[in-house]
Amino acid sequence: MIAEILTIGTEVITGSILNTNAQYLAGKLMDLGIEPIYHTSVDDNKERLRNVFKTSLDRADIIITTGGLGPTQDDLTKEVISSTLELPLERDSSMEENIRMMFQNMHRDMTENNLKQAERPLGSQFIENSNGTAPGIFINKNGKKIILLPGPPKEMIPMFENYVAGLIKEDYTIIQKSANLIGIGESALETELKKLDVYTNGFEIATFAKDGEVEIKIIGKGKVRLEVEEKVNEILDIINKKFSEFIYGYDNIPIEELVLNRLKEKRFKMSLCESCTGGLITSRLTGISGASEVLDRGLVTYSNQAKIDELNVKPLTLENHGAVSRETAYEMAKGLIEKTNSDIVLSITGIAGPLGGSIEKPVGLVYMCVMTRDNYKIYENHFTGNRTSIQNRATIKAFYEIFN
Ligand code: ATP
Ligand code: MG
Repeated sequence: MIAEILTIGTEVITGSILNTNAQYLAGKLMDLGIEPIYHTSVDDNKERLRNVFKTSLDRADIIITTGGLGPTQDDLTKEVISSTLELPLERDSSMEENIRMMFQNMHRDMTENNLKQAERPLGSQFIENSNGTAPGIFINKNGKKIILLPGPPKEMIPMFENYVAGLIKEDYTIIQKSANLIGIGESALETELKKLDVYTNGFEIATFAKDGEVEIKIIGKGKVRLEVEEKVNEILDIINKKFSEFIYGYDNIPIEELVLNRLKEKRFKMSLCESCTGGLITSRLTGISGASEVLDRGLVTYSNQAKIDELNVKPLTLENHGAVSRETAYEMAKGLIEKTNSDIVLSITGIAGPLGGSIEKPVGLVYMCVMTRDNYKIYENHFTGNRTSIQNRATIKAFYEIFN
């Protein structure tokens, strides 16, 4: 079964609100084994709504709409869909009774407008809305399931969970698994992937690139959950073997979380001194709850003087080799580990650009030193991209080196 999500509302189209309904519904459909193939949005306009709805009817088995169900003038979803499907609106007497009662209880006058809410396309069912006035509607016509839901997420989400999921659930499974990699480019990865015999019928393997890392996503589909799972794991095994040196984790768990967990297991304390990343590495670490068990301190030693004052980097080292050098990275790390009780420290110094590069030391050159009480390693990196991108790439790579 394939589905289309049709979000209706001028606010969505003009950018006044973020279309979170589409994202929510797409995720939920995937969980139910139903594949969303189109997200369509349209403003509160009769003709345009009619046109996109007709298109949706041609290409999807399940159509879920949100928005435009209220009692006001601009709410036309029900009217347009019932006329397009040639199912006249009829008034539901028990719903009419409900609405009259509701207004009585609230001591408010009911207008004819409000009775619009008691109308539904011939043969359709209402979907209860416990958090608002506009009920949803479920239409089952010629093998197509059409579900109309209100726009406000706090009304729409409980309705989907409580009623809609049960109405459309498929005897079908979709399983997604991801491997996360660092140190290989997306195009190189794709070329290598194509050489492996992992592309199977009904299974998709896609790659996604972010700053400094790549994700391989395996999407498996089929009737029997166990079989799909087994096949997905088989593919993942092959990918694991081939790319083991690049894989740092699975299912998009942030690398800083993996680093923290590993250091926690070892009962390690860590400190950082950052130059070109300006605290980004420390900031990402403190974004994970429980960072305090591992992180002792993060210093931003940006100027030469700060490197001298805070980390005892020798002025002569800076003079002879420059701030962006192996020697400075080493002395930064050494100064920090001597100053703290940390079991592991990382120093980072580089040129984030766009200014300040030279032929010998181009923009994107970044040195890192990872030091423990009995060992150290210095890494020379050449990153590409703009300033932000170089800083992000350096951050990811730093976590990767600590992780290893
Ligand atoms: P109401 O009875 O509240 O008018 P409705 O079904 O008529 O409900 P709309 O008038 O289209 O819905 O939208 C009402 C509100 O719902 C919007 O102001 C917005 O806050 C929220 N909303 C609508 N569509 C979306 C969407 N696609 N994603 C997130 N929020 C939405
Ligand atoms: Mg409305």
